[in-house]
Amino acid sequence: MTKTSLDMLPTVRGKYKPNADLAKLTWFRVGGVADVLFSPEDEDDLIDFLQNKPKNVPVMLIGMGSNMLVRDGGVAGVVIKLGRKFSKIEALGGNRILAGAGVADARVAKAAYDESLDGFAFLKGVPGAIGGALRMNAGAHGTEIKDILVEARALDSQGNVHIFSLDDMGFGYRHCGIDEDYIFISATFEGVTSDQISIKAKMDKVTDLRVAAQPINSRTGGSTFKNPDDKSAWKYVDEAGFRGHINGGAQVSEMHTNFLINMGDATASDIEQLGDMVKAKVETDTGTILHWEIKRVGRKS
Ligand SMILES: Cc1cc2nc3c(=O)[nH]c(=O)nc-3n(C[C@H](O)[C@H](O)[C@H](O)COP(=O)(O)OP(=O)(O)OC[C@H]3O[C@@H](n4cnc5c(N)ncnc54)[C@H](O)[C@@H]3O)c2cc1C
Repeated sequence: MTKTSLDMLPTVRGKYKPNADLAKLTWFRVGGVADVLFSPEDEDDLIDFLQNKPKNVPVMLIGMGSNMLVRDGGVAGVVIKLGRKFSKIEALGGNRILAGAGVADARVAKAAYDESLDGFAFLKGVPGAIGGALRMNAGAHGTEIKDILVEARALDSQGNVHIFSLDDMGFGYRHCGIDEDYIFISATFEGVTSDQISIKAKMDKVTDLRVAAQPINSRTGGSTFKNPDDKSAWKYVDEAGFRGHINGGAQVSEMHTNFLINMGDATASDIEQLGDMVKAKVETDTGTILHWEIKRVGRKS
């Protein structure tokens, strides 16, 4: 595929950055460059870009990069990172909160607490932004995005605006049914009135559980595999003998075996190979196929 260069792209008010290092934008801190990184100035700027860019230039969204493994060969086309103008958060009344797709999940949990709204505590522990949370149907401790979503606003690849109701979203376990080329812009959530003391207790519990059970200070991508129906993915990985297993600069976390870690000098290939080794052994041992939850993107080098 031809490398995308700035002269192929429409004039925008936001910022283009050619050959942008994506490792810096992900939790794993690995991977190659984007042909071009685009930070739209605002929604209109993004719409203009989508309407005027050449059809054959691929587009990919990156949020906080907390569920993403960018491969070493980088990402072809334009990678979009939503910035300040997509980070608005507003209490709408009627127990509802509007959040831009660039808002960190933990900020939404805090805003809900400020409004005495229950149902959002799980977001305190998900280290992504709302766009990624919609795409992944992020969830924890028995609650998912689908339990609080009223509607989401999105752009299609031609820049047309769509409003998707909860039913339209086609949510499943870590799955959203909206086509991959839609860009989420914002979402409206609804909670249930409660008292701040009990909401705070739930948020604190979320933090405590994470500190105790997850390598949250490591370079990781969160849960590597989706949980199969019968038992947690970490048990399969552990029973296959991979706790602490090292491949190049990558390791299966000693603390939580469904987390892969960049020990410092891992390549994306070290990490992906390790995940694939785990998958293969688990399938051989048990017949169960683990499915990647982490989004692996870009070209292998
Ligand atoms: C320590 C740790 C703990 C975690 N714990 C949890 C947990 O408890 N529960 C959980 O569900 N997840 C967890 N995760 C995974 C991750 O935080 C979530 O999946 C999160 O929702 C991803 O959001 P993000 O902004 O980082 O998205 P990214 O990782 O940047 O992207 C994920 C996907 O969303 C797409 N995307 C991003 N923004 C948009 C947008 N605006 N429009 C359309 N598509 C978009 C990307 O293209 C990609 O396909 C954890 C991760 C880490 C590192």
